[in-house]
Amino acid sequence: MADIRLEGVGHSYDGGRTWALKPMTWTWRSGRAYALLGPSGCGKTTLLNIISGLLTPTTGRIWFDDREVTTVPTAGRDIAQVFQFPVLYEEMSVYDNLAFPLRNRKYPKAEVDRRVRRVSGMLGLDDHLRRRSRRLDPGRQQIVSLGRGLVRSGVAAVLLDEPLTVVDPAMKWTLRSTLKEIHRDTGHTFIYVTHDQTEALTFADEVVVVKDGEIVQAGEPTELFLSPAHEFVGHFIGSPGMNVLPAEILDGLVRVGRAAVGRAVGDLPAGPVRIGIRPEFAVLDSAGSTPGVAGRVTGVDRMGSYDLVHVLVNGHDEPPPAERDGPPPTERTTGRTTGRTTGRSDQDGNAGHPLVVKTEAGSRFEPGDAGFVRFAADRAFLFRDAVRCGTVAPLNGRGEE
Ligand code: ATP
Repeated sequence: MADIRLEGVGHSYDGGRTWALKPMTWTWRSGRAYALLGPSGCGKTTLLNIISGLLTPTTGRIWFDDREVTTVPTAGRDIAQVFQFPVLYEEMSVYDNLAFPLRNRKYPKAEVDRRVRRVSGMLGLDDHLRRRSRRLDPGRQQIVSLGRGLVRSGVAAVLLDEPLTVVDPAMKWTLRSTLKEIHRDTGHTFIYVTHDQTEALTFADEVVVVKDGEIVQAGEPTELFLSPAHEFVGHFIGSPGMNVLPAEILDGLVRVGRAAVGRAVGDLPAGPVRIGIRPEFAVLDSAGSTPGVAGRVTGVDRMGSYDLVHVLVNGHDEPPPAERDGPPPTERTTGRTTGRTTGRSDQDGNAGHPLVVKTEAGSRFEPGDAGFVRFAADRAFLFRDAVRCGTVAPLNGRGEE
């Protein structure tokens, strides 16, 4: 096992015209479980293939501890890699497939048997060990591929590229915890590529979020949720993601429209910013009771264990008149969502910014209700050019004009 250090590593597939991976310096610390999380095409597989040696980076150097491996081929790196789709010998039995990486490296017979049975037990393959691999369904074949990646000892890292894509959804939960268990058991460095936040958050000690070929934030799952350093992290992690609204810093206060929502904290010049607040940390109150941003409910998603209340906030500090008895502000839909809008104005043409507030189930809000949205001060963040530049401290007293 080793720390894997990337120094200025970047990759371009088109001679430097565009960068699939922008030059980065980053260390994967030995023994940790990482998730590499990001949308399709952001460069996750490119990064993984550079670590494993399947791809030589256009720029930069790679070190395993103090050994430089930039030009060392895969076979010389002692990396185990599991791909999105099964890679195994179909004519071999499951046992022989699992044993193959060990026999190849001349492990003693008894050790091969011990390791194969241990991995097989953990992955639920005991009843299939004698079957030919081609007779298994694709999901089970993928589990065998996973086993082939996990069976060895002393690897520099185990790289998993969306390994559960073809696995039955019911099995995924079990396998995720199994993988965590195997990580704890072996102490190997795991780098698990996924675009699924649940997979990333449940598996990893540390989640590395990638966007457009660069790392925008890395941290423990809770840190990414509570303290996003980039608008993208706020949006990509969380369900639904963070609300982001245009705001302004004026005389040290953060204003959304005319309403002051808090004091700006940070070395921040006056001017436009964006304020981010997660649905969990926005509170909707009946009109007038507390300071906040005035708005009108445009829809309520009844999710069972909680409600998502959609509000069009207008940035004034007086709420628009309630319209519960009047015409609905947006089209009504059937099912659990009523009157939802994603636009920036309701059907009466009232301009505003859509925002989602998460409340407990059975909230009393209905489309057309007016209210004030308050932001939990230590959970609202300021962004410039999508990067966090400050936080918001509470106002003393009511937000003034
Ligand atoms: P996905 O989740 O869809 O696999 P990813 O995050 O793993 O995406 P990459 O596969 O690393 O992203 O791709 C990053 C960028 O590089 C994309 O724009 C992709 O089209 C491009 N790319 C990937 N492989 C090649 C290649 N062999 N030749 C040219 N461009 C490539």
